[in-house]
Amino acid sequence: MSEQPKEQTLAEQAPACYECKSCGYVYEPSKGDSKSNIAGGTKFEELPDSWRCPVCGVRRNQFVNIGASGAPSGFAENLNYGFGVNRLTPAQKNILIFGALALGFLFFISLYGLK
Ligand SMILES: [Zn+2]
Repeated sequence: MSEQPKEQTLAEQAPACYECKSCGYVYEPSKGDSKSNIAGGTKFEELPDSWRCPVCGVRRNQFVNIGASGAPSGFAENLNYGFGVNRLTPAQKNILIFGALALGFLFFISLYGLK
């Protein structure tokens, strides 16, 4: 049996997501912000100072760090490591991940209602 090298989960490697305190919009670095021509992979910290919330227009300082909850790795982790084998992913983190995914999904859907 070989020990697995110490490695970070993909979720821990992923840059943090930020949520707009005003409207709940979540900036996901992996997706960027197509409305403002921000390419996917741009960290929140790297956004230009002129960047505003694409939904409600508030400044960057109105965003809070909610961690790398948008990372698409939540499922892969479980598949790769199995439950209970590796304790890198506490239940709280999963709640955060799925909660944010659900929130993001609802929000995304709500955009269609604006037309
Ligand atoms: Zn906003």
